Amino acid sequence: MIPFLDLNLVNAPYLDAIEAASLRVIRSGWYILGEELAAFERAFANYCQVGHCVGVANGLDAITLIFKAMDFPPGSEVIVPANTYIASVLPLSFLHLTPVLVEPDPYTMLLDASLVEAHITTKTRAILTVDLYGRSCEMDAISALAETYDLKIVTDAAQAHGTKYQGKKVGSIAHATAFSFYPTKNLGALGDAGAVTTSDETLAKKIRYLRNYGSQQRYKNEYQGVNSRLDEIQAAILNVKLPYLDKENERRREIAGRYLDEIKLSQLILPPADRVQEDSWHLFVVRHPERQRLISYLESKSIQTNVHYPLPVHKQLAYKSMAQLILPVTEQIHEEVISLPLNPVMSDEEVAYIIETINQFDS
Ligand SMILES: *Cc1c(COP(=O)(O)O)cnc(C)c1O
Repeated sequence: MIPFLDLNLVNAPYLDAIEAASLRVIRSGWYILGEELAAFERAFANYCQVGHCVGVANGLDAITLIFKAMDFPPGSEVIVPANTYIASVLPLSFLHLTPVLVEPDPYTMLLDASLVEAHITTKTRAILTVDLYGRSCEMDAISALAETYDLKIVTDAAQAHGTKYQGKKVGSIAHATAFSFYPTKNLGALGDAGAVTTSDETLAKKIRYLRNYGSQQRYKNEYQGVNSRLDEIQAAILNVKLPYLDKENERRREIAGRYLDEIKLSQLILPPADRVQEDSWHLFVVRHPERQRLISYLESKSIQTNVHYPLPVHKQLAYKSMAQLILPVTEQIHEEVISLPLNPVMSDEEVAYIIETINQFDS
């Protein structure tokens, strides 16, 4: 079986270094908000070519703390793509902001910048772009709108570590960017972890307080904060893995390039091939009108696939309030997408076998 993603294999090259780093923390007697986190925050800010990085407990909290720090009045509207993981939308609900779902471009499957303006009202305060699958949104068009209407841009880059847009690193483009280091992400911890990057020093400082009960100095609380800290062991593990992120993304690009060149199956829609080198290829998402038949066929040939995602946010029980929304592009995407295995530990033979097997599917 070619697994969709085998985390044992992904982490195998780093295990000795990870064990040494973890042991160092364990024996140090300092487990929360210490040197490992400070070092990771510097290294990741540097990697993203941005002034500030604040480590937090996970990607969901990274998005939540950005909006909490921005402190928009309750009922403010935030534009968000309808084709996303539910974690992009939940933080808005927690903070009593109103998510305004906008359809994706059917080809990139990312927020369609040309549809955003029609959804802007006097209550709109921000646009949350989601660099889904590892590709950046159309930031030129979105930035122009944000400027015209005085909106903040926040990016959910949980799937986009190392992605670029016109040569600029994701993490340095939006007003603030949220990252997740969930184990399956391009840069994954061995547990939960996340971070916010921003060039806004005031915002970074506020998020730094908010993640620690709203406190800068112990027992003095300036804000009603939360407990959302990135612990020292996870930070130490991320310090081990970060230097290899570019090399791993390079391997992902190589595989994506081969899939794009060599998969040839009528009715199968491949992702756009215009930004292979800027995309970090967290997921390689194709579309087929007979999804289940293709998934079963691949499984019968020992190829494991996945679906990101099977049910859109507005069709979830958790969002009954949005059930009346009509979002046909999003709904069709959710019925047709299949994620093929794409990760840095796949062999050339596995890649060739996947291509050959797909090309033999009779559709
Ligand atoms: C993984 C993910 C998140 C959430 O990250 P966690 O660390 O699991 O909280 C948010 N948005 C997107 C698009 C994701 O893929």
